[in-house]
Amino acid sequence: MQKELLNYLKKSGSLLKGHFLLSSGLHSAHYVQCALALKNPAMAENLGKNLAELWRGEKPEIIVSPAMGGMIIGHETARAFNVEFIFTEREDGRMRLRRGFEIKTQAGVLIVEDVFTTGKSTMEVYEVVKVGGGIVLGALSIINRMSGKKFYFPHRSLLNLDIENHAPEECPLCKKKIPLVKPGSRK
Ligand SMILES: [Zn+2]
Repeated sequence: MQKELLNYLKKSGSLLKGHFLLSSGLHSAHYVQCALALKNPAMAENLGKNLAELWRGEKPEIIVSPAMGGMIIGHETARAFNVEFIFTEREDGRMRLRRGFEIKTQAGVLIVEDVFTTGKSTMEVYEVVKVGGGIVLGALSIINRMSGKKFYFPHRSLLNLDIENHAPEECPLCKKKIPLVKPGSRK
């Protein structure tokens, strides 16, 4: 499965090489653009099914994902579990539920992301769920590139990629004067 998925991600252009500014502010020689892998609805559905099968814990009552990246895969994972899907989004920099979305008190929640990069957005969703009264059962993602970092709740990913992130002041690619690209900014 891992090899097959890796091939698909490469073929769909989801795994890029260069010098990238990540949304976390860190630099990396690799960028993962899952949106390209998810533009095929049948494949998105399939990935959601695979994620649901990967989960070993209690069946969730609702799936919560951070917009934008987690929306499609979160939706498809919710479809596989046959539960509802809602998403968090940023307002004035702060992650929150909008659009009338709410979480039932004590509802079991799975957080679903496309990529775990630093884990920051997952932890932000975690806080939103907790404040909202839900219980985070765990988190799932298509790709984990956190290089060994772990959440303190159960989490699983379809593909673990060992990719280094660099602080800008320590970035070897900056030192080599390779132009920095902000992914998504290119037309
Ligand atoms: Zn750099």
